[in-house]
Amino acid sequence: MLPQPFKKAKPIIRKIEQHGCKAYFVGGCVRDYLLQREIGDIDIATSASPEEIKQIFTKVIPVGIEHGTVIVRHDHQSYEVTTFRIDGNYSDQRHPDSVTFIDRIDEDLRRRDFTINALAMDGNGYILDLFEGQKDLRDKLIRTVGNAADRFQEDPLRIIRALRFTSRLGFTIHPETMEAMINVKSSIQSLAVERIQSELAKFFSGPHINQGLDYLKKSGVYTELPIIKDNLQLIYMLPKPMIPLHSFGELIALMYYLDDSITITDWVKQWKCSNKTKEEALQLNTAIKDYITFGLHPWLIYKLNEKYFEGFIRLIQCIKLNGDLSLQGLKDKAETLPIQSKNDLAFNGYDLIDLFPEAEKGPWMQETLHKIEKAVVTGKLENYNETIKEWIKWNPPEIN
Ligand code: ATP
Ligand code: MG
Repeated sequence: MLPQPFKKAKPIIRKIEQHGCKAYFVGGCVRDYLLQREIGDIDIATSASPEEIKQIFTKVIPVGIEHGTVIVRHDHQSYEVTTFRIDGNYSDQRHPDSVTFIDRIDEDLRRRDFTINALAMDGNGYILDLFEGQKDLRDKLIRTVGNAADRFQEDPLRIIRALRFTSRLGFTIHPETMEAMINVKSSIQSLAVERIQSELAKFFSGPHINQGLDYLKKSGVYTELPIIKDNLQLIYMLPKPMIPLHSFGELIALMYYLDDSITITDWVKQWKCSNKTKEEALQLNTAIKDYITFGLHPWLIYKLNEKYFEGFIRLIQCIKLNGDLSLQGLKDKAETLPIQSKNDLAFNGYDLIDLFPEAEKGPWMQETLHKIEKAVVTGKLENYNETIKEWIKWNPPEIN
């Protein structure tokens, strides 16, 4: 009996087959099924062309037609359906120069990175295993499909992916694959940094991150990574044991805590991070600093967006400041704050103008409102309009 996620996706396979084409589950989902791990995205490989898929299904989103990938929506779920293909040269080491669609799965499996990722399964649960992927799963081994040096040369991102799988799965790297990683590692320089970032974030989130870090050091791959290559000490400064982090923003916040000579802006620029990652790193950094100085202060909880609570707890544990912060504890504390946001203040800019009608508008207004906000959040001032007005009389703003 196939597990539920496959059962749910089986009608897609069947429908493609009814049109005379072949279709298989491939890649990570087959690997994770055989490992009895939770199954993430279900990917399907098919001999049908993207055009044919568009005709077969009603809800198709063309996400990467040039690479043969479309998304099929089925039963409120998205499935990546990719036409069997072989990749041309990777002359820029970013994308294959061309892809050729083919009608046999064996060549499609051959282009995949590791034996454990080159497994396919048909609609009846029959496993297609051309490169001893199941044996490597049993032996917990990461091994390239084909000659390791060639495969890493072709796309050096696979070097980072090998590390990612050690950290995520706790597998060891086959000696020949490891040797090639060491020999080819300088090609990492030619990769688009966004691709490295996304794999490295997954690397740091693995439950076996400590084993992963041993491989990162032993392979010397860290000497090829932006910023780290110019600050090799960083890798050795990581806490021991390291605990898994869930995002690149958390990683930047940790790195900046360990060595503040490299600013968050430097990290964001050199790793080409999104504004979202930058915001996360900045918020976490402020929270860690406040925590070190003032402990679990109401202002810290107020300023930290709730979506970063878990990341904050992870970082606090990681740098061993305190082990017993809990998510629920933080949420409870957040709920009991006198206000949740500036909008809840019983006093605003218009009230301030009313109090000082003669004064010219300027930065003093923001500063005063900020002081009021902080006094209310920290319980020094009650959130009543009259009380706040009274407070201002005793704490007059510096208008200049
Ligand atoms: P996860 O469960 O973490 O998503 P995954 O194995 O599905 O792991 P993806 O990055 O989603 O990893 O890739 C899907 C599949 O595509 C892989 O299992 C592998 O077969 C193939 N693949 C991905 N990237 C590469 C690459 N750079 N070179 C060769 N094959 C790749
Ligand atoms: Mg995947």
